[in-house]
Parts: sequence; C-alpha cells; structure tokens
Amino acid sequence: MCRICHEGSSQEDLLSPCECTGTLGTIHRSCLEHWLSSSNTSYCELCHFRFAVERKPRPLVEVSTRGTSPRAQ
Ligand SMILES: [Zn+2]
Ligand SMILES: [Zn+2]
Repeated sequence: MCRICHEGSSQEDLLSPCECTGTLGTIHRSCLEHWLSSSNTSYCELCHFRFAVERKPRPLVEVSTRGTSPRAQ
C-alpha cells in the first residue's frame, strides 16, 4: 500500500525508495514525485533517508524492462 495515497492498486509501480519498512516504505513513483516537489525536500520525513531525486519532468526512476541495449551477436 502506498503511504501517500493509501492505494494498493498495482496500476503503478510501488517503490521502496528509503529505509522505512512495511507499509511506510512503499510509495508510488508518482506519489513520491508529487510529495517531494510539494514538500520541497529530498529526505524521507521518517527515516531521513535521502532520496536519489533528479528533478526532471520525467519519472523519478526509469525502469526499463525492455531489452533495448544493443547487443550484437
Ligand atoms: Zn500512491
Ligand atoms: Zn523512510
């Protein structure tokens, strides 16, 4: 369950970006991005873990599941 919006739907990836455990440690990517931008911080308010945040208008974490790396045989 996402600790920001309290939704557990799997429409979006749930990240565990900090050292919090359990339900406090899972956050949707977009929720984390919104929370960080709205609170203007880069630290978890609970465990004070510093998020590796790059403030770009793109997703915080780009998870590539496609094998796009060119690998010639
Ligand atoms: Zn959420
Ligand atoms: Zn934390």
